[in-house]
Amino acid sequence: MLNYSQLFDANYWSSLSASPWTALMHLVDITLVSYLIYRFSKALAGTKIMTLVRGVFLFLFFQILASLLGLQTISWLMNQVITYGVIAGVVIFAPEIRTSLEKLGRTTQLFARVELSAEEALIQAFIKAAAYMAPRKIGALVAVERTQTLREYCSTGIPLDADISSELLINIFIPNTPLHDGAVIIQEDKIAVSCAYFPLTESAGISKEFGTRHRAAIGLAEVSDAFVFIVSEETGSISVAYNGLFKHGLSLDEFESELRSVFTPDDVKKRSWLERLGGSKHAR
Ligand code: ATP
Ligand code: MG
Repeated sequence: MLNYSQLFDANYWSSLSASPWTALMHLVDITLVSYLIYRFSKALAGTKIMTLVRGVFLFLFFQILASLLGLQTISWLMNQVITYGVIAGVVIFAPEIRTSLEKLGRTTQLFARVELSAEEALIQAFIKAAAYMAPRKIGALVAVERTQTLREYCSTGIPLDADISSELLINIFIPNTPLHDGAVIIQEDKIAVSCAYFPLTESAGISKEFGTRHRAAIGLAEVSDAFVFIVSEETGSISVAYNGLFKHGLSLDEFESELRSVFTPDDVKKRSWLERLGGSKHAR
């Protein structure tokens, strides 16, 4: 137990730096505690538990004050409350404690399976959906919002606000269902809307083989920095439009590398660097 009167004892303070080793250990100790407090407060910021934590800290502050002033009975009473309060806290917040411990377990990547990043989850959902839709010639049009907002196009669609999954994407585009017509817009790791309408490109240089679905994708890529992909209903071919580019007739592998170049540029850089070391396997 901490003895607060130690704080006013000069010998106590000098004992902290008695040897360089003790001083170093104290420094490591303080750094670790500061870091833990920082992480703790960052994790709690803005949550309901924060009010409770504030109350607990206030209580601890008064307990320290009472003990420093020598108010023994109050201090003893507060100590009892703290002792039983911890047990009560564990019982009351058991579900929250369990979730945060599970979270901690998941972030310790040493033993646990690495969680997919949002980008990786998006890439995998797109590839899986395209792999299902292309051979079955299910027409699809999907735009991913990047830095420029697609809010005005969202307002033309039907709001969904659903987690991204290949299954849902496939389901949306099944012909003759209420949500299949028009485009899906992805905003901040969510399927924001379906049935959205995009402006058609006015460019005259596009082959007549491409109808309105492709023209809508190119049109959106012209007026925003969105990434758009299309699965053709007529040919089953996969195309992408972004940054003023339009690439059509992509294989699944090519589609995947397009997705990776857009959504995980660092990953691609790393890989090509490794490939350069070991000789490129995918010479094009
Ligand atoms: P596909 O190869 O799939 O046939 P396409 O480029 O030939 O594509 P159309 O056959 O004209 O295009 O596809 C029509 C479908 O494209 C519509 O049913 C609708 O779902 C979608 N579409 C057409 N215009 C737009 C638009 N402006 N915004 C969003 N979606 C659109
Ligand atoms: Mg067509």
